[in-house]
Amino acid sequence: MGDGTLARMPAFAIRTYGDPVLRQRAAEVTDIDAALRRLVDDMIDTMYDASGLAVAAPQVGVERRLFVYDLNDDRGPQVMINPVIEELDGEWAYDEGCLSVPGLYFTIRRPKDALVRGLDLDGNEVRIEATTLEARMFQHEIEHLDGHLLLERVTPAQRKAGLRILRERQVTGGPRRPPTVVIDEDGGIADD
Ligand code: ZN
Repeated sequence: MGDGTLARMPAFAIRTYGDPVLRQRAAEVTDIDAALRRLVDDMIDTMYDASGLAVAAPQVGVERRLFVYDLNDDRGPQVMINPVIEELDGEWAYDEGCLSVPGLYFTIRRPKDALVRGLDLDGNEVRIEATTLEARMFQHEIEHLDGHLLLERVTPAQRKAGLRILRERQVTGGPRRPPTVVIDEDGGIADD
């Protein structure tokens, strides 16, 4: 970025709610090879194009257990392969969104801290003690790998309100990047 090269076209369209690939349990990555590295590069391009914090492989139609992320810190884009949550602790409420459920944010309580292990692109085991946003992102992305969306983590009132908005937008064929709406635990809606 900003290095004078032409911006690349994003390799993938993000799969959205209703796409069956988002409901499949993704398979373990068995080979960290050139094809996987190319996939990771393309997922990173797609993540930046969509202005997302993270993209899991199923969101680009690939049923493999990996995701990429960039928390806007000094580490740049990161990849986590075959991630496993070892420990969760605490509680934290946060307005959580998902590129596969565009424009909707839900106030969701989840564990605040997460200890996650997985592999990096060199096949080395990494263990990350994460908190707040990073811990939230790990939980969210690993759920994608298990075939779950945040719509399954919300309260019944939130789910009802969220699905109603999604239906309305499908009927009207809304914009590609719809306006942001935050849905609280009681299903109350605040336009951003
Ligand atoms: Zn997501």
